[in-house]
Amino acid sequence: MSILKTTENAVMQTYGRFPLSIKQGAGSYVWDHEGNTYLDFTSGIATCNLGHVPTGIKEAVQAQMEVLWHCSNLYHIPQQEAAAAALTEGTHLDQVFFCNSGAEANEAAWKLARKYTHDKGLKDKNVIVTFSQSFHGRTGGAMAATAQEKIHKGFAPLMPGFQHLPFNDPKSIYEIDGDKTAAVLLELVQGEGGVRPAEYEWVQELSEVCRQKDILFMIDEIQTGAGRTGTFYLYEQYNLKPDVVTLAKGIGSGFPAGAMLAVNKAAAAFTAGTHGSTFGGNPLAMTAVKATVETLKKPFFLSEVKEKSERFLSQLQKIESSQVKEVRGKGCLIGIEFNGPVKEIIEQLRNRGVLVLPAGENVVRILPPLTATNMEYEKFLSEFKEVISERGAV
Ligand SMILES: *Cc1c(COP(=O)(O)O)cnc(C)c1O
Repeated sequence: MSILKTTENAVMQTYGRFPLSIKQGAGSYVWDHEGNTYLDFTSGIATCNLGHVPTGIKEAVQAQMEVLWHCSNLYHIPQQEAAAAALTEGTHLDQVFFCNSGAEANEAAWKLARKYTHDKGLKDKNVIVTFSQSFHGRTGGAMAATAQEKIHKGFAPLMPGFQHLPFNDPKSIYEIDGDKTAAVLLELVQGEGGVRPAEYEWVQELSEVCRQKDILFMIDEIQTGAGRTGTFYLYEQYNLKPDVVTLAKGIGSGFPAGAMLAVNKAAAAFTAGTHGSTFGGNPLAMTAVKATVETLKKPFFLSEVKEKSERFLSQLQKIESSQVKEVRGKGCLIGIEFNGPVKEIIEQLRNRGVLVLPAGENVVRILPPLTATNMEYEKFLSEFKEVISERGAV
């Protein structure tokens, strides 16, 4: 800890960090620098979906590291082509643009939407609609897309061209102006915004309106994708066929990578020279992505995740406590809404060797690795119940 203390101030203070410094991880566990063990039900914020340092992915990246790290997108990159094929296989999506993060994937998505309408000669059809309490990232554009005041504060003026409508509200559907709107972008479960699932019927109507008005229907699956909710993409559970899907977080098992997937009709707008990224789609990241996606898409892998996580969710829902308002979520993306702030609960769990996250003030967000075993779920439940009962009727 002493080394960390003296160098700490050289890092910009953009994060409210927990008083914990992690040295090592394996599977569902991490160890701090003092040797304490923690059950990690944060998965590096929905990123280490296969657990920490996953076998198979590690060896693939190590082998690639021996031969080539980077060559730029001026050349063909077979690992990139293989990763794109793995992501689109068995879906209606046709093409992939690779970048390095979620915000960049979303930036690529609205650039594509605007180019798509521009190519049709519809110059005023350029607005991107997003929804209240959404989270789409921290870049200039992604911040403007994110409909949360706390994210905007102090950064005026916001980039124009984004319209925020109320989430899960039928009114939103009537307010979308087909002449002005190029695309609608939404999360099917709002992650940072409090683990709030979109209502099935509302999303169906939204998707239908987009189809009728030639508005690109785009799903931000940066947190929900890569198997997190028990299917590779969450849109599958909603029976949707989005024009564009954005991914990042879990697709590289912790190796930084982002992706924007689109159907041919939309992807055609990105011709040579219209968009790019120096690091995007590099051989190392693509090796991690390909190995991760292939593992997640193995027969029975995700059906088991779905089964185990649904049992876990129902066990959480059975806990009776006056402190708990609602337990909700999909697969391994679970939120427990409390009647008050959850800061202390997160600390109490950490003191018992269990890591979870907040999502807003009153929601505990639980993001187990998809590989978590029944025993690890049991351990979580018993520690969680202890914390709840210790707190009593607060
Ligand atoms: C995390 C997240 C982002 C931003 O991803 P970065 O990699 O941090 O840029 C965007 N959208 C959603 C839904 C996210 O959860």
